[in-house]
Amino acid sequence: MKKLTYLLLTLLVIVSCKENATTSIQEENQKEEITTPPQKEITDPKETEIWDPEPKAVSFNDINVPSDAIQLFNGNDLDQWISTKDSTTAAWTINPDKTMTVKPGTGDIQTKENFGSVQLHLEWKAPDIVKGEGQGRGNSGVFFQNKYEVQILDSYQNRTYANGQATSIYKQHIPLVNATKPNDQWQTYDIIFHTPTFSADGKKTKSGSFTVIHNGVLVQDHVEILGSTEYIGPPKNEPHGKGPIKLQDHSNPVHYRNIWIRELK
Ligand code: MG
Repeated sequence: MKKLTYLLLTLLVIVSCKENATTSIQEENQKEEITTPPQKEITDPKETEIWDPEPKAVSFNDINVPSDAIQLFNGNDLDQWISTKDSTTAAWTINPDKTMTVKPGTGDIQTKENFGSVQLHLEWKAPDIVKGEGQGRGNSGVFFQNKYEVQILDSYQNRTYANGQATSIYKQHIPLVNATKPNDQWQTYDIIFHTPTFSADGKKTKSGSFTVIHNGVLVQDHVEILGSTEYIGPPKNEPHGKGPIKLQDHSNPVHYRNIWIRELK
């Protein structure tokens, strides 16, 4: 009997404590409701204006290069480039009309400078004579960090595997449409590249991404980079830091002009 009375008393104390706690939370809430003033309606448009920081003004030169870009090819020389295979002077041909052309057999060329995430603009034109089929017609390519290729190919009325045509992320992403112009016309690529990131122990912590605009048309919409763009086999994900921009010598005399880059922070 004594035990039962004790148990009942204990229960009574617990219930009463709980009630007190609930009451104090309710009281607290009520107090907050009373002290928080009602949101006042915004009627002045100025109240939602933000003035700082002010974006820096960018100007443009006669060929529309933004003043905060690095000109990788200005039509006069290949000073920003070296041969990929032996780091010697890039041996592609500079033409009198301020364009350059792949010199087949001399190999890929790459920038001296290394880059992380970037915006890249380049203009290219397929070889003057339409020759070859599929991957053999007007093939070149622009690589980011020496690992990730956006395909350059004369894909005008030239069928090949879809994840290998112009503006494909080679063997990873098919372009949304084929915006390739015929070989007698210059074409633009505007590419936003976000670098993948890796932890100190070499694991990929965030995938990179590509957005590609071809002749003003969106063809890759922030697609995930699955790893290096391999000719044979699946993508690889070896850790790396910044790397050069590389242009491919695929034995076809593809023309280039007006290449510039802006680093993204
Ligand atoms: Mg290629």
